[in-house]
Amino acid sequence: MRTQMATEAGRTTAPSEDRALVGPNLLAVLDGVTAKPETGCAHGVGWFADQLAAELLRCAHLGPAPALAEAVRQTRELHGGGCDLEHPDSPSATVGLVQIKEDVLRYLVLGDATVVVDAKSELRVVSDTRTNRTAGADPADVEHALTGEIPLAEVRRVAILSDGAARAVDLFDLFDWRQALELMAANGPDDLIRKMRAVEKEDAKAVDWPRAKVSDDATVVYLER
Ligand SMILES: [Zn+2]
Repeated sequence: MRTQMATEAGRTTAPSEDRALVGPNLLAVLDGVTAKPETGCAHGVGWFADQLAAELLRCAHLGPAPALAEAVRQTRELHGGGCDLEHPDSPSATVGLVQIKEDVLRYLVLGDATVVVDAKSELRVVSDTRTNRTAGADPADVEHALTGEIPLAEVRRVAILSDGAARAVDLFDLFDWRQALELMAANGPDDLIRKMRAVEKEDAKAVDWPRAKVSDDATVVYLER
């Protein structure tokens, strides 16, 4: 199996709050939710995304949902006593996660991350753009994640994208998901981000494609067998 990743901040003036994770049997993209002015947390979204990513790797021996719930629980502890974790805008992240274990690929999506699995008989595209569910301070939120599994023998390619990268397909319509996987197979995931940034630059006032952020943090983890 071969894994590639690409990530680029949406702006040059602020660090990316996306995180890509490539562990021995766990791949994930985390997208820290842009902080409101007041979050109740002394640490910030970047810190939160870093801790959650590190804890996820530590919990990779568990299944996807238990691993994420435990990572949320551990990160909650790391805030310490000085943060108000009941605050409605407490730092959080959307999560797209893939775990490969015992000849099965398991995936989990919480929020508007996208997981695309090219299996022999079907193309599965998993994302939840309708709800605002994210991984934050409460492990119970993980219950709302979309999960599933596919026999590894059927899997050809997998991509995990933050919403800032998935907009190449679901907003700009540069290609469909199958073509996006073909592009990544041929040129790597950074080519998807490059092509999308070119469109964003041409529509710098967000007129042709109305969007809250002209460019968003964009991250892709791509795997092929
Ligand atoms: Zn905190």
